[in-house]
Amino acid sequence: MRLPGQDRVGRPLLKSGKKPDLTGGKGGAPLKRESMNLKSVISLLGRLVLAFLGAAAVIACTPSAKNETSSPAQAVFEPDPPHVCDFCERLNEPMAPFQVYGNTYYVGTAMISSVLIASDDGLVLINGGMTQTAPRIVDNIEALGFSLADLKLIFNSHPHFDHAGGIAALERATGAEVAASIESAKALEMGHPTEDDPQRGIEDNVFPAVPDVRAVKDGEALAVGDVKITARYMPGHTPGSAAWTWRSCEEDRCLDVVFADTFSTRSAPGFRFTDDPERVETFRNSIAKVAGLPCDILLAPSPLSIDVEAKLKAREEDPETNPFIDPDACRAYAEAGTGRLEKRLAEEASDQ
Ligand SMILES: [Zn+2]
Repeated sequence: MRLPGQDRVGRPLLKSGKKPDLTGGKGGAPLKRESMNLKSVISLLGRLVLAFLGAAAVIACTPSAKNETSSPAQAVFEPDPPHVCDFCERLNEPMAPFQVYGNTYYVGTAMISSVLIASDDGLVLINGGMTQTAPRIVDNIEALGFSLADLKLIFNSHPHFDHAGGIAALERATGAEVAASIESAKALEMGHPTEDDPQRGIEDNVFPAVPDVRAVKDGEALAVGDVKITARYMPGHTPGSAAWTWRSCEEDRCLDVVFADTFSTRSAPGFRFTDDPERVETFRNSIAKVAGLPCDILLAPSPLSIDVEAKLKAREEDPETNPFIDPDACRAYAEAGTGRLEKRLAEEASDQ
């Protein structure tokens, strides 16, 4: 794991870019026609000599020069084996990708969110779904007209099989940097949640390990092109849970977008939040923090938790409005989080 401030070493980023023009113009366009006066004859002879010398130099210095004419780097995507669970198929039902606002797009499935941010110099992805979700994400990125090879940065909101499973394959295909909170970076590199994760005792909550994860501090921002994404730690569902925030613009209207992690209290059997009052306090502080974030648009790991389907339907009925814009969304999400946590604590109290 690379701690905040450390540089990435020895792992080149792929850049799809445009195919390098090896012909010196469109199919080796003919030289511009010139009248054949003495000056142009001398100029032409000079160019022929230079071309001859140049070709000789290339042949002398690079005997394998023919290999350099191969096509530019393409992202070759090979998924990891599918995660097996009773509800995995339902989680992974495909969903058509769509623009949320400005440079922000939804590229996940019907039940697991992945969000794409298109900067002016590369793509950023938040969450990779399950292993078998990654091919859906790739299809969705390409259906929107983007190239997978332009993916430069992948964030994770929390390291469980349903949001981290596809990251390893996406990283292999693109060379994109993977970044997460300090606690989540540890889990991503191990391929399973950390010991103090409420779901650590769930045996099949595992995922392909991601090598070399960049750990991001609370409040630290990473930039790709003209987009700056900031980490907002919100421990609760997992010790490393983090929200990611950025700004998206349409013409001159720029809005604050929040990808908040879940406030789910799901845990391994036998785990009790009430056994650790400090953890409960931390969870409550995270809920308050999300409620107070600058937030015009809220996205989250579960599309159900933010009513994606209803919003899409509303937008279809009235294309002039964008129901994803809701300055009250983070507050409402936090309120629902408080409800879940208090319900869980009450259940634990009644189980004693
Ligand atoms: Zn989870």
